[in-house]
Amino acid sequence: MSFVHSINLSLFEEKSTHKGSFELDIYRGDLEHPNAPGNKWHKLQYHLKAAKKQNASVIATFGGPFSNHLHAFGMTLRILPFKAVAVVRGELQPKLTPTLKDMVENGVELWPSSRSDYRLGMSSQIVNEINEHYGNVYWIPEGGGGALGAMGCHDWANYINAIDDKYDAWVVSSGTGTTAAGLLSNINTPDLHVFSALKGEPAQRRLILDLASKLAAESMSKESLNAKLFFHADCHEGGYAKHSPALKSFISKFARANPNYPLDPVYTSKSMFAVIQAMQNGCWPYKRTLFIHTGGLQGWRGFSKDTNPFTYS
Ligand SMILES: *Cc1c(COP(=O)(O)O)cnc(C)c1O
Repeated sequence: MSFVHSINLSLFEEKSTHKGSFELDIYRGDLEHPNAPGNKWHKLQYHLKAAKKQNASVIATFGGPFSNHLHAFGMTLRILPFKAVAVVRGELQPKLTPTLKDMVENGVELWPSSRSDYRLGMSSQIVNEINEHYGNVYWIPEGGGGALGAMGCHDWANYINAIDDKYDAWVVSSGTGTTAAGLLSNINTPDLHVFSALKGEPAQRRLILDLASKLAAESMSKESLNAKLFFHADCHEGGYAKHSPALKSFISKFARANPNYPLDPVYTSKSMFAVIQAMQNGCWPYKRTLFIHTGGLQGWRGFSKDTNPFTYS
């Protein structure tokens, strides 16, 4: 199976004076690992190694009721010899979300947490309770973040480069910025354009740079990392998981031209919208671009069916 496909831009180029100037390919991270596609699987890899090293029998993590991270966590751990525990933000509704239903089916134990306690993270009451209940628990931060999460994405860049290392730029979506930091830290990664799915996160650029610099250690100076990092904080289209009318219309147009390349509703649809707009406006300075699909298609289950125009099931 090929993981790199070329995006059909014809519908977006009709009125553009830049017709044919750009080649936009997509790395189909959404097709990797049938059960746990996208960046979250990569972010888990070093955490799993650390859990083994700690001799933990239980691995626990955090997430919301539609979380891609929780979903990948459940799907990855179901075949591993750890007990999986998830702290879920907010009250559990009697009717579980599709994401949480999958978790239960995969044997993940759900511990609902009030929003106020959840916000305390590792200092929360529920973390204490779980530690007391199980003893040696390995904790994965929300979203699979931290340096270990980023290291998995550093490795991911090697897989991607092994397929084709002649791109002028890569594009990736960000939430915590962990994935972007890992990719950036790889010496073979070209200019990296990072599009944030969150509102009001311009300060995240610094976090990505610091984490990438820690990971790259001696292999690259902070200056050279800084020079290839482009962070975009203004493409959230109203905020996390929000859809502006312009974004909705973009998603349906993109799906008409590329029905087999589904974008997810929270991250990749927004970054794809932003890149194609930049191309239309003539402010995209690259010829060959690779868009890294970070997965997240299961997230559509948190949206009403008529908002999803893609033909995947
Ligand atoms: C979690 C997620 C991201 C963001 O990853 P970070 O490492 O938190 O920046 C991007 N895309 C998708 C589809 C995700 O699920």
